[in-house]
Amino acid sequence: MHKQKVVIVGGGISGLFAANKLAAYDQFDITLIESSDRCGGLLNAYRSEQGVLYDQGTHLASKTGIAHIDKILFGEGKLAKHWHEFSYLNSGNYFSGQWNLKTQVVDIRALPTECYQKCVGELLTSVSDMTTEDYSTFIRSHVGSYLSDKLFTPSVKKLYGDEVDFTHLKPKVGYFGLNRVVAFDDETSEVLKSIPKYDEKLAFSSSKYFAEKTNITESYLYPKSELGIQFWTDSLLNRAVNKGVKVKTSSQITHLNAQQANVTKVELKGGESLDCEYVIWTAPPFLALRLANIAFTSAYRPVLRTANLFHFSFNRPVLNSQNHYVWNWDESFKSFRITLYDNIAGRAEKGSRLTLEILSNEEQSELLCYEHALEELKELGLIDNRHIVIDQARQTIPNTFPVPTKQLDNAVKEVGELLRLSLKNVIFAGRHSSTAWLQTDVIKSIDKQIEEIFF
Ligand SMILES: Cc1cc2nc3c(=O)[nH]c(=O)nc-3n(C[C@H](O)[C@H](O)[C@H](O)COP(=O)(O)OP(=O)(O)OC[C@H]3O[C@@H](n4cnc5c(N)ncnc54)[C@H](O)[C@@H]3O)c2cc1C
Repeated sequence: MHKQKVVIVGGGISGLFAANKLAAYDQFDITLIESSDRCGGLLNAYRSEQGVLYDQGTHLASKTGIAHIDKILFGEGKLAKHWHEFSYLNSGNYFSGQWNLKTQVVDIRALPTECYQKCVGELLTSVSDMTTEDYSTFIRSHVGSYLSDKLFTPSVKKLYGDEVDFTHLKPKVGYFGLNRVVAFDDETSEVLKSIPKYDEKLAFSSSKYFAEKTNITESYLYPKSELGIQFWTDSLLNRAVNKGVKVKTSSQITHLNAQQANVTKVELKGGESLDCEYVIWTAPPFLALRLANIAFTSAYRPVLRTANLFHFSFNRPVLNSQNHYVWNWDESFKSFRITLYDNIAGRAEKGSRLTLEILSNEEQSELLCYEHALEELKELGLIDNRHIVIDQARQTIPNTFPVPTKQLDNAVKEVGELLRLSLKNVIFAGRHSSTAWLQTDVIKSIDKQIEEIFF
């Protein structure tokens, strides 16, 4: 039987999902090419010099709620053997000098009475301008100028940089939950949220309540393995290999040979080449253009943020025994998110591990140091003078987090269109395609494209 030759480029969750999806059928001959020395992409463990393992940021796995996808992602049968299961993400947030351990959304009821009243007044009377193409105009119309100045603008700056041009930002992106606030008790919120214009700006007071109310079936998972989230991508890799997928790590593509707008051969460094009938490309799409010698000129250069991860182990549990991870929306701190592994995996009695994340530009990244990260942890009250660092590691992932500008959108659309016309047998997917970003979204999107093309 003739098997269709498929080359998958990139061994992150997108590429591994695609490999497993196709490998379930006998009709494909699949090769997965990964440029780094191991698969997993962002969903990998980081091993410190002392051998302690940390994840690369906050990465809980989540079910998509689509049975055939979840079966590929997590296998069949009971999950309890290998996974901790949660019905909701237990996240908290820090804002304006105060903790809220129930949700990642800011609860403006914690503001001084006068401020709160002003915010609520504006929040309820402002009319969201859904036609504007400008983030500043949108957010002011959505939540009012006071909240926009006090919370939304500084938080977006913290994520995307002081230098971010707000007139370039896409208006209606979720920005990690930065489009809603908690403003009332849940009963009042529920009444107001039945009206769409309020639903879009109000949140319930806790993630738990939200999950219960909305009857969300999606559940979140975290591996019991010491490898952390890497267990997931390792399992997917092993399953793919067992089903016959050939995996080439530390492999560089040097050229995409296209005939009549179809890639027929993928050439690799070292002289090897692979014939192919289809390519699933989860690496940056601009690279595909270059490797296929397709001319593309754009004046626009995407603005990319560097992820700075500070991993720590302490001699004693962290002073938050509740949250899986916390967001820090307070503008006087550099950190935006902290993962508290022991609250996810329940191993706190041995000490504790956490990862603090800061987004910056490349120059600022060089100025960041362990001492600063530890100071923030102390100021946040997550550790105190009794905490002794028993392990630390710093991981810098340059140029990984795109600033969601309208120009990026346009450039991606332009490149996407050009690629569709020039390389017709290539599926462009994954976070680099900029058509989806969150884990479940990139997976659902690649699944849909594979269904359309192959089945
Ligand atoms: C800082 C940060 C925070 C995030 N937070 C969240 C979150 O809270 N929730 C959430 O759902 N999602 C989050 N995401 C997004 C989520 O992690 C991704 O959507 C998902 O992991 C993307 O998987 P991927 O396979 O598309 O990309 P990646 O994991 O980046 O994998 C791409 C793979 O392609 C390989 N590759 C690159 N170029 C080549 C090449 N030329 N040849 C061969 N291989 C190549 C890379 O080495 C890598 O292994 C976050 C992402 C970042 C960067």
